[in-house]
Amino acid sequence: MINNNRLRIAIQKSGRLSDDSKKLLIRCGIKINLERQRLITCAENMSIDVMRVRDDDIPGLVMDGVVELGIVGKNVLEESLLSRRAQGKDALYEILYQLDFGVCRLSLAIPQDKHYTNLQCLNNNCIATSYPYLLKKYLNEKKINFKSFLLNGSVEVAPRAGLADAICDLVSTGGTLEANGLREVEVIYNSNACLICRTGNISNLKKNIIKKLIIRIQGIITARESKYIMLHAPSDKLNEVISLLQGAECPTILKLAGDNSRVAMHMVSRESIFWETMEKLKSLGASSILVLPIEKMME
Ligand code: ATP
Ligand code: ZN
Repeated sequence: MINNNRLRIAIQKSGRLSDDSKKLLIRCGIKINLERQRLITCAENMSIDVMRVRDDDIPGLVMDGVVELGIVGKNVLEESLLSRRAQGKDALYEILYQLDFGVCRLSLAIPQDKHYTNLQCLNNNCIATSYPYLLKKYLNEKKINFKSFLLNGSVEVAPRAGLADAICDLVSTGGTLEANGLREVEVIYNSNACLICRTGNISNLKKNIIKKLIIRIQGIITARESKYIMLHAPSDKLNEVISLLQGAECPTILKLAGDNSRVAMHMVSRESIFWETMEKLKSLGASSILVLPIEKMME
């Protein structure tokens, strides 16, 4: 039985977003045992229930008010929004947070040996896709005539099987396209996972949990993007060292026992530290350079 006083979050049950979604909830401090293959799992320590479903069902579950929150790819969200609009229904959600996983793009791809100079080459083609609305929106804007062929899986085999001239599918590295003799010719939509919330009345109790979750998610994501740096540097090169570490804020400077010419510096940097930066630090005379991951952060 669903308890209406508990906040409900829908995540993908099994697929490309499920591990990252689960990890995010767990890192937010939600105690859930997702070992058992249940549709709904209750958190032990917070008034939260996690619902695990197919990603395509998440926008609908949020918009129809079955759950308050959902973690879903923007591609799926936008497709479902366009499909709802076509049926005269409204979008009843807001994006609360853009997450740092599920990064991919929806692209047009054609057989490697097919001639291509610009989109006009796709005029009157048959294009296989699982995203007919996103495809239609893009090609209508570009005034390209086409026929779409709806496939819910294995879209990349459609040209070889003689079902379509081209495809419009999700790509992250491009490896699957290449393995199927296809090449990417246009990116039509850039996507990542996001946290969405239904609009309309939500009790204050649930709103407070949502606020708390957003602050925690923000803390996790900023921490993932940041690094803690410790090093020893010559006192007279401090400014040069700091200017090499873009995004570093108010370093802490500490004395070194028995060494007046050098100091220890500790700082948080908002940018990735590459080997090249470490080599430049070294050439300025820095030593004992440590770059550490940060687990959580609250500002
Ligand atoms: P389900 O069984 O839940 O319907 P699915 O097969 O539709 O799963 P997945 O392949 O698991 O979906 O992808 C889920 C989401 O992960 C995509 O909608 C997209 O937002 C994101 N994603 C990230 N990288 C990729 C990729 N290389 N290919 C496909 N999806 C990707
Ligand atoms: Zn799906």
